[in-house]
Amino acid sequence: MEIEIATIGGYEEVGRQMTAVRAGDDVVVFDMGLNLSKVLIHDNVETERMHSLDLIDMGAIPDDRVMSELEGDVKAIVPTHGHLDHIGAISKLAHRYDAPIVATPFTIELVKQQIKSEEKFGVQNDLVKMEAGGTMAIGDENELEFVNVTHSIIDAINPVLHTPEGAIVYGLDKRMDHDPVLGDPIDMERFREIGREGVLCYIEDCTNAGKKGRTPSESVARRHLKDAMHSMEDYDGGIVATTFSSHIARVKSLVEFADDIGRQPVLLGRSMEKYSGTAERLDFVDFPDDLGMYGHRKSVDRTFKRIMNEGKENFLPIVTGHQGEPRAMLTRMGRGETPYELEEGDKVIFSARVIPEPTNEGQRYQSEKLLRMQGARIYDEIHVSGHLREEGHYEMLDALQPENVIPAHQDMKGFAPYVDLAEQFGLEVGETLHVTRNGKLIQLVE
Ligand SMILES: [Zn+2]
Repeated sequence: MEIEIATIGGYEEVGRQMTAVRAGDDVVVFDMGLNLSKVLIHDNVETERMHSLDLIDMGAIPDDRVMSELEGDVKAIVPTHGHLDHIGAISKLAHRYDAPIVATPFTIELVKQQIKSEEKFGVQNDLVKMEAGGTMAIGDENELEFVNVTHSIIDAINPVLHTPEGAIVYGLDKRMDHDPVLGDPIDMERFREIGREGVLCYIEDCTNAGKKGRTPSESVARRHLKDAMHSMEDYDGGIVATTFSSHIARVKSLVEFADDIGRQPVLLGRSMEKYSGTAERLDFVDFPDDLGMYGHRKSVDRTFKRIMNEGKENFLPIVTGHQGEPRAMLTRMGRGETPYELEEGDKVIFSARVIPEPTNEGQRYQSEKLLRMQGARIYDEIHVSGHLREEGHYEMLDALQPENVIPAHQDMKGFAPYVDLAEQFGLEVGETLHVTRNGKLIQLVE
């Protein structure tokens, strides 16, 4: 059977991931993501109304025109998890393919919400839920399987396409967490099994390949956060926290430790309400019944007023704005645009790390400066990454023993340390180790 791989997006950057695998006449597309930084760099761009071709020209979504060179029918579009760099282009591209979108329940719900907010295209692909561990026939000879992985968002999987020529493992976005705060540990047993059955190709997330050692578990970030928040127990002024809205495990920890130190947690900001509300509705997390979540500007401001009236020392607002996004809640607080007044000594917890990219770094610098000018004390980087480091990559290569490897989710510089590692497993650049760019085709079996 002919096996061909199209590396469509995310092979020159972290963002706008999209890869297609053709096995015989069947094609499966993995991820359709957005490169948000390419959008944020322009002021006031509203992607909801934009056409795909304009977004492709901006470098914001994958240039999927290479798909016309693949001779086969798309049988499924498979987003691996709900981060925007993996699902953010579905509303712009999926309607071009006559295939269902297959994903885990939390991811499907986020895709559904995204399709609903789209104003230019009507995406009508079927939405099919499949849990980790589930399988689905793709044509007569291939099978799709979801293997449970751990990442900074719940319900993440690595899809595997089983073909007569061996398995294609799409390894994007995971860390090896054996003690996650929410959900099951990574299913290494299944990866080792698949490795024994034979892996034709492994496509790997190189985000943190250049970092030594291993990525700590979410339970380590949780302990760090607990330590920081308990140290603030006697403080009788304002404490504010921010984190990735989609990081439900972290939000859960913040909510619990707020309660520990005698403060009522409250979630503020549109995406805080969206992700946590969705996770709670789908029973992925059990928040206290009285946990307030407010997204609309008016209800947020009303909540801030209530906090000021009843005393800042009784509350822990958990807000958007960990990257200093200009319109997010924490940035507005820094600019003094909300009824919440920061005072000398008030504490701001960033349970996140700045995404190392100039737009984010600039915005975050500005936001932090504004907060400091009001007297805020900054508690930074109470966080662990969602991506594998060098030793995690070593373990994955050791478990899978792939015949071919394609590094992804980075630029050329980011691929280099991974290439060094993969060569130790006998893979050869130009032969079995395919360092590539966006818009290329790699024929694995002729
Ligand atoms: Zn991710």
